[in-house]
Amino acid sequence: MQLKMALAGNPNAGKTTLFNQLTGARQHVGNYPGITVDHKEGYLHYQGRKIIITDLPGTYSMTAYSAEELVARDYLVYNRPQVVINIVDASNLERNLYLTCQLLELGVPLVVALNMMDVAKDRGIEIRADILEKHLRVPVIPIIARSGFGKEDLLNAALRQAAEKNAWQPLDISYGDDLDTSLTELIARIDTTAFMTDTYHARYTAIKYLENDEQILEKGREIEPDTAQALEEIVTGITAHTKTTLDVYPEAIIADHRYGYIKSLLMQGVITRKFDSDRLYASDKIDKVLTNRLVGPAIMFLILFLLYKFTFGWSEAPVAWLEQGFGWLSNIVEQTLPDGALKSLIISGIIDGVGGVLGFVPLIMFMFFGIAILEDSGYLARVAFMMDRVFRIFGLHGSSVMPFIVSGGIAGGCAVPGVMAARTLRSPKERMATLLTVPLMNCGAKLPVLALLIGAFFSENKARYMFLFTMLAWVVALLAAKLLRSTVLRGAPTPFVMELPPYRFPTMRGLLIHTWERTYQYIKKAGTVILGISILLWALMTYPGLPEQTSADFAQRREAILSGNSPAIIPASTSAMESISEQAEQIDARLAALNNEEAEAALRNSIAGRMGTSLESLSQYAGFDWRTNIALVGGFAAKEVIVSTLGTAYSMGEVDVEESMSLGQRLQKDSHWNRIVAVAALVFIMFYSPCFVTVVCIAKESSWKWAFFSMGFNTIFAFLMAVAIFQIGTLLNLG
Ligand code: GDP
Ligand code: MG
Repeated sequence: MQLKMALAGNPNAGKTTLFNQLTGARQHVGNYPGITVDHKEGYLHYQGRKIIITDLPGTYSMTAYSAEELVARDYLVYNRPQVVINIVDASNLERNLYLTCQLLELGVPLVVALNMMDVAKDRGIEIRADILEKHLRVPVIPIIARSGFGKEDLLNAALRQAAEKNAWQPLDISYGDDLDTSLTELIARIDTTAFMTDTYHARYTAIKYLENDEQILEKGREIEPDTAQALEEIVTGITAHTKTTLDVYPEAIIADHRYGYIKSLLMQGVITRKFDSDRLYASDKIDKVLTNRLVGPAIMFLILFLLYKFTFGWSEAPVAWLEQGFGWLSNIVEQTLPDGALKSLIISGIIDGVGGVLGFVPLIMFMFFGIAILEDSGYLARVAFMMDRVFRIFGLHGSSVMPFIVSGGIAGGCAVPGVMAARTLRSPKERMATLLTVPLMNCGAKLPVLALLIGAFFSENKARYMFLFTMLAWVVALLAAKLLRSTVLRGAPTPFVMELPPYRFPTMRGLLIHTWERTYQYIKKAGTVILGISILLWALMTYPGLPEQTSADFAQRREAILSGNSPAIIPASTSAMESISEQAEQIDARLAALNNEEAEAALRNSIAGRMGTSLESLSQYAGFDWRTNIALVGGFAAKEVIVSTLGTAYSMGEVDVEESMSLGQRLQKDSHWNRIVAVAALVFIMFYSPCFVTVVCIAKESSWKWAFFSMGFNTIFAFLMAVAIFQIGTLLNLG
């Protein structure tokens, strides 16, 4: 049986030398039709098989920049050799691996021939082929083409690879948040119309569109103009975006990330230099410190802490202004509208509900700004790189780091893109473990809850508590992952390499745009989804209202107070004047108390109130009263709703408090709340069932079985934690 094999590599990597070694005189040189690029083909017999070898033109890349590149790529794509041998110059590894990276992205069945091992040795460079092989996940065979050393090993590996790999399997590299999002969009488009999928993998075509690959663009327009146009529009959009935020084209970002991938690959101990290299770049020098095993994590924690310090410190005043503003708005409505359902809807449902969420906009904005700095400068990738070492211990894959960070590993992400980002994981078990644990991170929707409760109960040291709760989220997520990976998702780990793009100075413009984009998402969600849910919950908390008889009773008692017929509790006083004013005050106080009692009775009798009350028999063990229960149930729709529902519940239930009091102040005053309850509630909120949208997303990415599993598993786990905290805390009297 014949076997087709191709040799690919940079110019001067030794392809022709190897080709001659393998084929000897059994070769002929021809021209590719129409162009003046050599086409060399030869053959040899090995282990009873005839192997036909093509020596491809030397190229540095696989993008259609030159005739050579086009020829090489077209040959691979249309002739589909069973195995491709990529010859890399071991003495110039970093540069040579750029092509390797692209061959892997194309997905060809690859064997890497690590050539010029003698040259490398002379230069004092030692290369660990086994480590390289582990991370590239294709065979890496050291050879010396000129002497023929390693020839047999190479052929054996090639035959094995050809026998094993039938389908092309592209390597997924992450190209950063912006491009990954567009890639997902492009791929969805390509998949639905099966656009060129007989030639290229969807992801590959998508990357080529982002790279503005003329050949593929042209072919696309020819075969399917509609899809091609849609794809080009997406690319135009993202190009405009990267141009304004980072002042680069997507192509450059892609190249950066490929080099980042190679760099971090080589940092895994592949190369040891006997002589100290003086050719270290600035990025490398910075990385020596920032990703150092000891200093690196210390710096990372310091940066996180400063981020929280900055966020809470700077946002304190604007958050307070906004709270005052909403309080003022409530007062105006209170004074202008007549009592009734409309007024209650506007004050309790809309202003207290949505206002509670919008009140945290400054905080969210500062947090996003800080994260944008970390991201745009390239530091976030280093965080991921360092976390990778930790992740392995817990049975997670290095590719899980980005999903975790996207989901709110630093605070303020969202589990939905996090769940989607887990697509880059190939191993189904590692992917599943990631899907199930990323919702435990502190996403942007949990931020206002954290800010509310930390602000109300730990106001003296907000940054420290924010830091602690972030660490807690990580610890719990990693332990949960370990638990899953050693029980229902047991299996071997797969190797991984993280991309390390070069450090860049973020531009102010880019930072502001990134900050605004995310803040705007938050505001938009508050104004649409959260508003809708707030109104729905308000209705659930208002209707059916009190039974007629009870209302009548309350009216009667009110009458009684006003007419002075109620049983007097005023002691006889000496002065008549004093007695009258005291009496008036007393009447006011008793009316307020009665109103309060009625409002609370009405809330309790509402649909949501009954639900909250019936849950109390269970939730009391964690210290949650029925009003908190309403908020927690509402929080399943979206976690921001917890703040808005608490806002509504606590503004409906208590009439005697000043209208302009913030929710935090109300909770501080409430007898049900204290520090222990606050911690128990926070822990429950951080870890209970992912919100509805995330659950749907998990179901789509895996199955409903796992989606339900995550709802049940997380809720039970969170509840047990909350109960433990409340019970132990109360026992030790820590409140
Ligand atoms: P190509 O252009 O990629 O086909 O590279 P060539 O096969 O023409 O090789 C370029 C140069 O590197 C030639 O001078 C070869 O003799 C030399 N060369 C190839 N392989 C080796 C090797 O393993 N060790 C050493 N020292 N030189 C090599
Ligand atoms: Mg040559």
